[in-house]
Amino acid sequence: MNLSSKDIERIRNDFPILNRKVNGSDLVYLDNAATSQTPKQVIDCIVDYYSNYNANIHRGVHSLSQQATEAFEVARKKVQQHFNIAHPEEVIFTSGTTHSINAVASGYAKLLNPGDELIVSALEHHSNIVPWQMACEQSGASLKVIPMDASGALDLKAYESLLSDRTQLVFCNHVSNALGVINPIETIIEKAHAVGAAVLIDGAQAAPHIKADLQALDVDFYTVSAHKLCGPTGIGMLYGKKERLEALPPYQGGGEMIATVSFEKTTYAGLPHKFEAGTPNIAGGIAFGAALDYMNSIGFERIAAYEKQLLELATEKLSLIEGVEIYGTSEEKTAVLSFNIKGLHPYDIGSILDQMGIAVRTGHHCAQPIMDFYQIPGTVRASFSFYNTFDEVDRLIAGVIKAKEMLS
Ligand SMILES: *Cc1c(COP(=O)(O)O)cnc(C)c1O
Repeated sequence: MNLSSKDIERIRNDFPILNRKVNGSDLVYLDNAATSQTPKQVIDCIVDYYSNYNANIHRGVHSLSQQATEAFEVARKKVQQHFNIAHPEEVIFTSGTTHSINAVASGYAKLLNPGDELIVSALEHHSNIVPWQMACEQSGASLKVIPMDASGALDLKAYESLLSDRTQLVFCNHVSNALGVINPIETIIEKAHAVGAAVLIDGAQAAPHIKADLQALDVDFYTVSAHKLCGPTGIGMLYGKKERLEALPPYQGGGEMIATVSFEKTTYAGLPHKFEAGTPNIAGGIAFGAALDYMNSIGFERIAAYEKQLLELATEKLSLIEGVEIYGTSEEKTAVLSFNIKGLHPYDIGSILDQMGIAVRTGHHCAQPIMDFYQIPGTVRASFSFYNTFDEVDRLIAGVIKAKEMLS
């Protein structure tokens, strides 16, 4: 049942990029939390679209347009099924998580009033902070923050004390991209609903590892970027409960999102078109569906179990290096290892690793408030995917030891 080394070998053959060399060494790609690599099944799907049925959707009576429309809508149904969403029109195709959150925040900016409160977690990516600050500026609503502790866990007692009948919306990521910690979103959602607030969960970092059941979660909005789960860039999902999306004003006007247009009055189209103005990323949407098919053919439980082994091995070996500090130490984690070495700058470590062909992320990971909490400029972040190997963990550890020697 578990992924064997034979399975991993077969899986790696699906990813052309994993065969390349970087600075003379075999690539070790450990920046999966920023973007994942793309299997040939997904690349082929994009080539097939542009080679055989590239046409604008919904608008044409001609065969190509019908074929493209059909494939795009099939992809929407795949996304719907994957996340156990009640209705296909609750799946809005966007360019990704950032776009999805901005769409919701822009709508809320028109609905919120002075005195209304929004609650954000201390663990958020900038894309789940800045759009809400903009909405607060426009509406006069205010933003409260759920604090975190040193392990990277959110303070749920403090959260409860922030909730009130003034709370309109709570937003939090499912998994922190900077630390990899899995947040207790079930509790966060339940407590928000108890005071009548809606909840938006940023699922960008969770989706590659956890198959979320959005009906069971009873979440109001959920966002995903396809490029983090083996799909292409420039496509993602905004899920919204039907009644929430119907109440939300659209934030972009244009073609495809209208029912009727005259210079006196325009009426909006129904869901999902109300939020899909203009020509969407058609090839991307279809490839997003193919990426979900690909990952489901491996199975999310097997993916999560294997990645956990990679994380445990890497954590154990890294902890043996003197001067290493790991950030995000709570039990519930996806395969993200964020760390520093005492006295060394993360950027320098990252540069030396790159010379050895090892790709990690360094910096604040678009989550400056977390770095401020730890009073550090940034971290080195190694993030694993199911196509990484135990050998690659060893190469990372050897690389970090070498970097430490060279820098100290
Ligand atoms: C990657 C990421 C985002 C931003 O996603 P984009 O694809 O850049 O829009 C937001 N939140 C989290 C938790 C992420 O990991």
